[in-house]
Amino acid sequence: TYILGIETSCDETAVAIVKNGREIISNVVASQIESHKRFGGVVPEIASRHHVEQITLVLEEAFQESGLSFNDIDAIAVTEGPGLVGALLIGVNAAKALAFANNKPLVGVHHIAGHIYANQLMEEFQFPLLALIVSGGHTELVLMKEHGSYEVIGETRDDAAGEAYDKVARMLNLPYPGGPHIDRLAREGEISIDFPRAWLEEDSYDFSFSGLKSAVINKIHNANQKGITLKPEDIAASFQASVIDVLVTKTVKAAKQYQVKQVIVAGGVAANRGLRAELEVRFSETGIPLLIPPLKLCTDNAAMIAAAGTIDFEKGNRAGLDLNANPSLLLK
Ligand code: ATP
Ligand code: MG
Ligand code: FE
Repeated sequence: TYILGIETSCDETAVAIVKNGREIISNVVASQIESHKRFGGVVPEIASRHHVEQITLVLEEAFQESGLSFNDIDAIAVTEGPGLVGALLIGVNAAKALAFANNKPLVGVHHIAGHIYANQLMEEFQFPLLALIVSGGHTELVLMKEHGSYEVIGETRDDAAGEAYDKVARMLNLPYPGGPHIDRLAREGEISIDFPRAWLEEDSYDFSFSGLKSAVINKIHNANQKGITLKPEDIAASFQASVIDVLVTKTVKAAKQYQVKQVIVAGGVAANRGLRAELEVRFSETGIPLLIPPLKLCTDNAAMIAAAGTIDFEKGNRAGLDLNANPSLLLK
């Protein structure tokens, strides 16, 4: 089976073709980061306008790269949510038009299911598996007992991990998106500031990053008032140490409790080198296989949507031409 994937939930216009849910035939991503940078974040209206401008070009390029034609495609998978409604609508409407014009089945995909299935493009899943999702809008631990089944065992109660990275980066006057810059600075700095860790209740797999964010703000303000300059590298290293400590410790604990056969990591923050390194160390100690996608598959792309959509397609799940964007779609 060849599935065409379309992703426009945020600031990437992406189209990909994936064979049998595992093999990338083509994968085109047009990023809008440059257009949003000067605003310090994604501006929804600008995102929608870019998607409109880009979608046809990206689609053509994905077909060109693949050497396939629409006749070869078995179904179209599109991100239906969550995300920015105006951005999602561009992808959903493009997918509906293509499905209608070419008489192909349509499948709606949850964006986070996509991030999870980015891993299947690397290795076959072993169930039960635990997925740590760390992205710009989500921080979740998801237990999967079989394909297409998702049980959220923990999630953030306030900010997502990526959001915390972006906000701290902003305080340090780093460009948007800040995650990669903090990642780079953290490697040069010392973990010299003792920032709090939000462990929450003893048995909880939930996360919280707003307290850490406030602690960073306070630390910077207090230092400024006393005329002390803290090194941005040290702030970055200390902040990152706190984030990683909580993420990794809770993931290891959950993996053991649920006796999973595999742990996978997904979402943009999975690109973080400090997080990747710590997960590798801690999971090699436990002996549970760990899978982290290469950088290009961590951030938003459509190959992951096609991969997740393949599972839905094989299960017989179909969307009608009344498919609508759902900005707050739940993972289930
Ligand atoms: P969601 O998937 O929840 O809808 P999103 O699609 O905006 O949100 P992604 O594209 O998966 O999120 O990831 C973007 C986030 O990843 C940003 O917050 C960015 O700062 C962060 N990020 C990217 N690279 C790194 C890195 N090396 N270290 C830390 N964070 C990073
Ligand atoms: Mg993005
Ligand atoms: Fe994403």
